Amino acid sequence: MNIKRIFSYLALLLILLPQVCSAQKHICKYCDTGISSKFIEVEGDYYHPEHFLCAECKKQIEGSYAKNADNFYHPSCYKKIFHSKCDVCSATLEGEYFVDLYGNKYHPEHLQENSRCDNCDRIICENITGGGKQLNDGRNLCNLCLENSVKSNSSYKFLLNKLIDRLRGLGLNIDTKNLSIIPVDRTGLKSAAGAMYSDNLKGFCKISSGSGSVNGRKFTEENTTIYVLDNIPPIYIEATLAHELMHVWLHQNTKNNQTDQLKEGSCHYISYLYLKSVNDKTAHLISKMMLSDTNPVYGGGLRKVIEKFSGKYLVELLNYLKKNTSL
Ligand SMILES: [Zn+2]
Ligand SMILES: [Zn+2]
Ligand SMILES: [Zn+2]
Ligand SMILES: [Zn+2]
Ligand SMILES: [Zn+2]
Repeated sequence: MNIKRIFSYLALLLILLPQVCSAQKHICKYCDTGISSKFIEVEGDYYHPEHFLCAECKKQIEGSYAKNADNFYHPSCYKKIFHSKCDVCSATLEGEYFVDLYGNKYHPEHLQENSRCDNCDRIICENITGGGKQLNDGRNLCNLCLENSVKSNSSYKFLLNKLIDRLRGLGLNIDTKNLSIIPVDRTGLKSAAGAMYSDNLKGFCKISSGSGSVNGRKFTEENTTIYVLDNIPPIYIEATLAHELMHVWLHQNTKNNQTDQLKEGSCHYISYLYLKSVNDKTAHLISKMMLSDTNPVYGGGLRKVIEKFSGKYLVELLNYLKKNTSL
């Protein structure tokens, strides 16, 4: 869960009652003139009652006040400016509340009442995501993700070619012969991945070899298919493609006998490097989400690979993967 528990500083609200006293020889702190009739004393300073003003609305404060730094406020004005509002229901946040990766703040109860987007993890509601819906495959997707999702099959091919090019730029060369991409829903991903399926899987790479003969000469040929989830925006598909293309590279260039942690950590690392090379807010957030993933294989593997290889040439990791099976 990529959300933080926060305690609102509502608890710091001071409600103090100023004293109204009868005239003595005091100077009003506000207007700097002598006070000949009633005055009020606040924390050792004196004011004409009509000169003890709220820093927010500039009107006289009668009765209790709240203080922040050296400023005084009506308690209601204080509440208005210093208390955060819930991004789901717009009511004031008091006590414990949550903040997600995107900076949205909300009451804890909304986590029970609302579902979260299976793609971006935002809480699905009118104010934050403009609503959302549940797809036939069971995924809850917010409207921000749905509205920006990839629509046509040719766009998926375009993204695959783009990623192959970009990864080559980062130093990862993939043999693209018989490589294809198929967008699927969660049900399709489930049947492609079989026993390897889990609900946080976003893509899957299947390599099958077939044999045949041409003019009496036998040959075996490999077909590589990358399955990616549909109905989500391009940058999420790109992150998944970078991961899956690294699986293809591992298959083509190593014995592919690394531990799951080294394998998935390295695939995540390629995705992480790609996302870092993209100057985009969402890309940055996805890499943050990957880094904070508590899964020991994916998040844990990524953190270990970063620790060992970040700042080095990619070829060092690639050579390591050819010779080693674990981190
Ligand atoms: Zn005054
Ligand atoms: Zn006020
Ligand atoms: Zn709320
Ligand atoms: Zn979403
Ligand atoms: Zn993987």
